[in-house]
Amino acid sequence: MNMITNHMPTEELQALDAAHHMHPFTDANGLAKKGARIITQGKGVWLTDSRGEKIIDGMAGLWCVNIGYGRPELAEVAARQMNELAYYNTFFQTSHVPAIALAAKLAELAPGDLNHVFFAGSGSEANDTNIRLVRRYWQVKDMPEKRVIIARTNGYHGSTMGGGSLGGMSPIHAHGGKIDGIVHIGQPDWWSEGGDMTPEEFGLMRARELEEKILELGVDKVAAFIGEPIQGAGGVIIPPSTYWPEIQRIVDKYGILLIADEVITGFGRTGNWFGSQTFGIRPHIMTIAKGLSSGYQPIGGSIISDEVFNVVAEGGELYHGYTYSGHPVAAAVALENLRIIEEEGIIDHVRNVAHPYLKERWDALTDHPLVGEAKLVGLMGSIALTPNKATRAKFASEAGTVGFRCRERCFANNLIMRHVGDRMIIAPPLVIKPEEIDILITRARKSLDECYAGLKEDGLLKSA
Ligand SMILES: *Cc1c(COP(=O)(O)O)cnc(C)c1O
Repeated sequence: MNMITNHMPTEELQALDAAHHMHPFTDANGLAKKGARIITQGKGVWLTDSRGEKIIDGMAGLWCVNIGYGRPELAEVAARQMNELAYYNTFFQTSHVPAIALAAKLAELAPGDLNHVFFAGSGSEANDTNIRLVRRYWQVKDMPEKRVIIARTNGYHGSTMGGGSLGGMSPIHAHGGKIDGIVHIGQPDWWSEGGDMTPEEFGLMRARELEEKILELGVDKVAAFIGEPIQGAGGVIIPPSTYWPEIQRIVDKYGILLIADEVITGFGRTGNWFGSQTFGIRPHIMTIAKGLSSGYQPIGGSIISDEVFNVVAEGGELYHGYTYSGHPVAAAVALENLRIIEEEGIIDHVRNVAHPYLKERWDALTDHPLVGEAKLVGLMGSIALTPNKATRAKFASEAGTVGFRCRERCFANNLIMRHVGDRMIIAPPLVIKPEEIDILITRARKSLDECYAGLKEDGLLKSA
């Protein structure tokens, strides 16, 4: 085989890609016909593709490149660590400096008594760890029947068997099934499901489904509740203000464990280190990944409270771990990423500069005929597309048709903005500057205009 490089013609790369590379969450035959877009470089909030197009990345990769692309400090740390100690495990009473330093740093950053870190290679793996941890916790406390985990419809917790089962996405369950002992309650998506209720009433109602479910199953069967402070892959569903305080009340009342899946909302995304701080949640376990290393290395983990750690420790050995738990190169890179976030005041930048500047322009998109609602917390936002803003109507076409068409226009206009159903979502790198936000908004408006014109032409502006 010849060397495959950036300088090969795009068509040849696409053909090899289609022939040999099976993509995640992708219709392989559809992609093979069209050819993948091949990304060759990244700097700040900008990507370059193999045809030389400059794309503004409104999604920070997959919600992970918090400090932006192309920071040489992380490359240098990785090279130094590989030369010094490329790998060693943390299984058999050994440890190494990068894992120790990263765990200590995370304990310092995490709120309350979240003082212990179990490392994984990804967010999915970390949530698989959490399933074991919460079940083991109740087993050690001599209540082995408490093993059901309550999660939410349209939540996303990863794509391993455990993570995919915790998630509440039926298409994922349909491909390979779902493990036992996981049940789902409704999501706090007022726009789509709130009917005539106010958002506050609806938030309370959805939170109280947790209490109903606990009573239905029996509290002696329930181990934990898991939720993302803001649902990400589900469409950036920002819950009504009443939702999380009520969930916290219920979790406290029944003494079940609370897992906050902070894989997206961690590391500055919502304007604090963790989404739990933004929403006033006190979890026993936080799932982390993505922004932990800004995507420069694959690493995830669980940050665990003193209480849960102490109980599990009392039980002796936990039969669980990954070859790459606390991988030294990944840990060293993550630590350098956290240093950059902290020393460069990136969270203050989100709070005081990027969020207010984007919020004004994002909210103003509601003057567009397709946009019903615009929501933004920190640098995580969504707009709901609708044929009728007053009634929050859905389109007559199959859900996601309009969102997909809008995303295609964004793609053509060199803006990465994703669609989930008929919502458009953004989560740009946290370092985005006001002048880059202007470009993002200009391209978003142009794409919305083109989408609207196309829908009109094809008679697709009808309500369901
Ligand atoms: C992405 C994501 C995961 C899964 O992380 P992977 O690293 O893809 O395994 C889990 N939870 C949430 C909230 C996520 O957004």
